[in-house]
Amino acid sequence: MLPKMKIGLWILGDQLNLQQAALAAYRGIKAQTPVILIESWDYARSRPYHRQKLVLVWAAMRRFAEALKVEGWPVTYAGAEDFRTPLLAWIERERVERLVLTEPKDRPFREFIETLDLPCPLTWLENQHFLWSRGEFQAWAQNRRRLLLEDFYRAGRRRFQVLMTGDQPLGGRWNFDPENRRPPKKGLTPPPVLSFTPDALTQMVIDQVRALDLPGYGELEPFSWGVTRNQALAAFQHFLNHGLPQFGAYQDAMATGESFLWHSLLSPYLNLGLLSPLELIRGAEKAFQDNPERLPLNSVEGFIRQILGWREYMFGLYHFLGADYSQKNWFNHDLPLPSFYWDGSQTDMNCLRQVLRQVEETGYAHHIQRLMILSNFALISGVSPQALKSWFHCAFIDGYDWVMQTNVLGMGQFADGGLLASKPYASSANYIQKMSDYCQSCVYNPKARLGESACPFNYFYWDFLARHREKLASLGRMGLALKNLDRLDSQELAQMRRQADEWRRCSRSNRFEK
Ligand SMILES: Cc1cc2nc3c(=O)[nH]c(=O)nc-3n(C[C@H](O)[C@H](O)[C@H](O)COP(=O)(O)OP(=O)(O)OC[C@H]3O[C@@H](n4cnc5c(N)ncnc54)[C@H](O)[C@@H]3O)c2cc1C
Ligand code: SF4
Repeated sequence: MLPKMKIGLWILGDQLNLQQAALAAYRGIKAQTPVILIESWDYARSRPYHRQKLVLVWAAMRRFAEALKVEGWPVTYAGAEDFRTPLLAWIERERVERLVLTEPKDRPFREFIETLDLPCPLTWLENQHFLWSRGEFQAWAQNRRRLLLEDFYRAGRRRFQVLMTGDQPLGGRWNFDPENRRPPKKGLTPPPVLSFTPDALTQMVIDQVRALDLPGYGELEPFSWGVTRNQALAAFQHFLNHGLPQFGAYQDAMATGESFLWHSLLSPYLNLGLLSPLELIRGAEKAFQDNPERLPLNSVEGFIRQILGWREYMFGLYHFLGADYSQKNWFNHDLPLPSFYWDGSQTDMNCLRQVLRQVEETGYAHHIQRLMILSNFALISGVSPQALKSWFHCAFIDGYDWVMQTNVLGMGQFADGGLLASKPYASSANYIQKMSDYCQSCVYNPKARLGESACPFNYFYWDFLARHREKLASLGRMGLALKNLDRLDSQELAQMRRQADEWRRCSRSNRFEK
């Protein structure tokens, strides 16, 4: 039976899944239910987004609109300066009496839609793109003393019966992390990357992004990301065949010229809705069951933990912790972002230069590059967490508000004072030297703490510990680091702190965003 009011569906750019809530609810009357997708150029101008991210989202939206037409939906695809103008025209033309949307994952975007002052009522349907609904996460989280990823992950393994034998974890352990920290060794040969050559439609979008007057960041071409569900599935299959066997062991390694190593590169597709988390989890589990000799359990468990654990946990926390989380700044850091974040060639720190150049070229860096290079440097030098988050939001192909807040502010900057991490991810050059080959061709000496050749990660690290000694002492897991701080010669520490101050002072004039 047709609903009393004429329904129209607005599909957002990160809801490109045929099973999503709004489409599922009205599939039975699809021929009478108009659908709109809108690309807004003003929105694209609101931040200097990575050019490849704009291409990815718009090309994927256009291909999704085609898939909807094939399914029999009456689809309007609009490109306009703003969202409201084409939306109003479509509501009038199609005589829409109620607009239905699957809830946006990002809080600010929902608030933005609510300000649009539309001529018809609006209904939100729950976003089912995560395994845990907001209500389910809330039920798990409330009344807990600590919100530990490990507890949440185990609950997920049990609830969805993933890698379990009865109620016990397969292999007798929940977590194989200790096996997953191998440094890069000489002669590593990561698998070839599966790249997708842009078809005519994607090329049209590339040309459009070039022609539009956008603030833009990063390189537009070569663009080699997939833009359809079939391409995303091919990327997953490629990962199962080539990446997953070594994914675990080298998860944390970093190597010059190797942007991807054994990582899956699936986050852009997952975040757009082209892939669903459960199909990846089940796919990896089945590949393991079919061929346990080829796929070690530490790799399969490690990959599944990223999705069933981290990804779900970050989304759940984003909504559980509320809107004021975005302003958290436990250390009161207020340094502007160094301008070399926007142009990696401006820094002589090789680790930062390598990773920043890679982000400019691809919109991608893997987890440890994000955490222990890009975020670590901002943390120990005292950059405002909000300024850093804003940069991540623009620079990354998979960046969205829901995933940035807890990752950048919480995990990377410890801006929430420890709601989700038990200690700050702060380190000196020591960690970078151990887990990468970047230091081998750097102008700085990773062992030196003072003088011209001293690695800035060193003096900033000790300065960070000294500056925040009191706060850090309240965190049990910082005990050893603070003991090491106390062992330092006080003159050496004072000199390092002066060198850190000097870097900041010189930089104020020419190294920071105005
Ligand atoms: C400072 C910082 C910023 C980050 N920003 C983003 C971001 O903007 N968008 C984003 O999707 N992820 C972000 N992450 C999480 C993680 O780094 C990326 O998801 C991952 O690097 C994507 O590459 P991949 O697909 O090759 O991942 P793999 O290493 O192959 O992992 C598989 C999948 O697990 C999921 N995953 C793993 N860790 C996380 C996590 N902490 N949060 C959410 N999902 C996770 C991703 O969907 C990823 O595709 C950030 C992490 C940090 C520390
Ligand atoms: S020496 Fe310091 S700046 Fe240079 S690559 Fe190593 S950690 Fe980075």
